[in-house]
Amino acid sequence: MTAEVVLRARRAVVDGAEVAVAVSVADGRIVAIDPYDTDVPGARVVELKDDEVLLPGLVDAHVHVNEPGRTDWEGFASATRAAAAGGVTTIIDMPLNSIPPTVTVAALKEKRAVARDQSYVDVGFWGGAVPGNLPDLRPLHEAGVFGFKCFLLHSGVDEFPHLSASELREALAETATFDALVIVHAEDEQTIESAPPPHGQGYAGFLGSRPKEAEERAISEVIDATRETGGRAHILHLSDADAIPLIAKAQAEGLRLSVETCPHYLTLDAEQIPDGATQFKCCPPIREHDNQDRLWAGLEDGVIRTIVSDHSPCTEDLKKFDSGDFGEAWGGIAGLQLGLPAVWTEARSRGHSLADVVRWMGEGPADQVGLFERGRISVGATADLVVFAPDESFTVDVASLRHKNPVSAYTGRTLTGAVRQTWLHGIPVDIEADPRGRLLTRGQS
Ligand SMILES: [Zn+2]
Repeated sequence: MTAEVVLRARRAVVDGAEVAVAVSVADGRIVAIDPYDTDVPGARVVELKDDEVLLPGLVDAHVHVNEPGRTDWEGFASATRAAAAGGVTTIIDMPLNSIPPTVTVAALKEKRAVARDQSYVDVGFWGGAVPGNLPDLRPLHEAGVFGFKCFLLHSGVDEFPHLSASELREALAETATFDALVIVHAEDEQTIESAPPPHGQGYAGFLGSRPKEAEERAISEVIDATRETGGRAHILHLSDADAIPLIAKAQAEGLRLSVETCPHYLTLDAEQIPDGATQFKCCPPIREHDNQDRLWAGLEDGVIRTIVSDHSPCTEDLKKFDSGDFGEAWGGIAGLQLGLPAVWTEARSRGHSLADVVRWMGEGPADQVGLFERGRISVGATADLVVFAPDESFTVDVASLRHKNPVSAYTGRTLTGAVRQTWLHGIPVDIEADPRGRLLTRGQS
């Protein structure tokens, strides 16, 4: 196919390394990758600057958009603008915090209807597994959801109830029959109920209310259920590094178990969180610095393969900044736009390359959800690309963030790495123009 446009970059992340290339694009796909100075007749040439690196568009498999139903918390237009501004070209929307939650095909249709025509990047959907909707799982799978989310304790919203241990097994056994993925918020209810409840402004009190053991117990439960049912499970937002050996052992045993972590667990320290700063509240919580070091080790060892935002915003009032009470505030961090610079800032100080970051935030999440032609610069892949300036620093100003409500755990931090341009299907995204994002179904490329 004749290339329409060729992007020339002295630095581009291709196949796990930085190389100088000319990337030819036609009809929204990458059609050739040639040496930098190759002449590509007929194509419009876009030359990256010397301080820029060409990356694939990132894939964020953990985003709470909340529309319809809680559109004042976040919506498809604002979330996908934030995504594009942050170098993320594919998001997979979580089934809860919207009303209705995505637990039936009818609810999925409703979500798709509102997401259509207002999304600036491509959007896919997770379904939900809740008590009583076992018969809905296969129809949802056939309608194209990427898998099923469940909780093992109260989800935070009453319309998305959690599964018991036996219901988890039923869900895994059912989804194993059509080889779907079950993604689990793994904190143990009893452990948390017997911990001192969170109250007041102290972060240490909040941390004490969500002990690490809660993650370990719940993850052990998921491992046992996976072994018993032959199902495929994924641990969401791992915060507790002590659980990594459990997961590594299960993976070595051949169980189909994967795990993700999030930028806030990798870049923010419990020791540094001021009292009353509820913008840092999320569940499971941000833990101590030593724990963070060991999460990075889990990434280095390949036990943790993906970093996703768990973008979970709410309105400002729900963060209870007037009282600063960690017991009262909504838990959730809006990190969709800043994931790449936050992770890159920390990764590079730890000696990692941009290729590592792309593996964790692009290829890894794409593979997890079966979108094998995304999250990488390769021939045949979608021409979703990011022009990234890895040495440019900026101080986070919440006013420059595109998600709906002006709350950020990163306000005032200096991050390194700026997204200068994001391309979707071979064309730069303009977040002030009409949206061009597409709705995705599982199995499509
Ligand atoms: Zn989440």
